Amino acid sequence: MDCLFCKMVDRDIEPDIAYEDDHVLAFHDVNPQAPTHILIIPKKHIATLNDIEEGDLALIGRLQHTAARLARELGFAEDGYRVVMNCNDHGGQSVYHVHMHLMGGRRFTWPAG
Ligand code: AMP
Repeated sequence: MDCLFCKMVDRDIEPDIAYEDDHVLAFHDVNPQAPTHILIIPKKHIATLNDIEEGDLALIGRLQHTAARLARELGFAEDGYRVVMNCNDHGGQSVYHVHMHLMGGRRFTWPAG
């Protein structure tokens, strides 16, 4: 399967890893939009948020749990941070493997562009 993030899971491409366990991989975004910008992905290939199934719910919870833990470890949990998941064209998704953006280290504005 020609998926960029699966290649990172398989180490065909070497990610700049922030966290890894049996189910989740977190690595630094190549084009950071904040002082810290980490992508948190399930190791299982799921193309979009629309493709999450009942059996994936714990896995998706792990993404959020990993984000909160990384925010604490990196020191911006108290100040706050932004978590984003883009879905399909209008959502701005460019890589079709579910991922959570964890961004911290600056103040974010709302609404998103
Ligand atoms: P999205 O637009 O929500 O699909 O997010 C995809 C993210 O993947 C973007 O923020 C890109 O900067 C990031 N990205 C693309 N290629 C790489 C790469 N080789 N290593 C790390 N991050 C990447």
